Amino acid sequence: MGLRKDSLRRYEELPFAATVPSPQVENEDRITGNWRVQRPVNEVEKCTQCWQCWIFCADSCITRGEDGPEYNLKYCKGCGVCANECPTGATTMVPELDFED
Ligand code: SF4
Ligand code: SF4
Repeated sequence: MGLRKDSLRRYEELPFAATVPSPQVENEDRITGNWRVQRPVNEVEKCTQCWQCWIFCADSCITRGEDGPEYNLKYCKGCGVCANECPTGATTMVPELDFED
């Protein structure tokens, strides 16, 4: 038994409660970046700007910058999905302890 195509709904048809509002509309009371133990780092030379990372980030905390993805670290939880989905290996996850900020 699998998913039947005619049973799927477009995202516009989902009730509002089934979607997650973008954290880019910032809410100071709901900052989640302090959960993170690793953070995504982008290697510009390897990035083809395919934007898979931007599509797959479940927290919508990636924006499309001039040179590749930019991360909103107030909300990035360090899940690593962006690095996992990156087809070129441009994104890697680096331990938070390697950073001073
Ligand atoms: S690590 Fe997770 S939350 Fe952070 S930018 Fe990547 S996909 Fe988004
Ligand atoms: S998925 Fe990888 S190659 Fe594509 S835009 Fe993101 S960092 Fe760049």
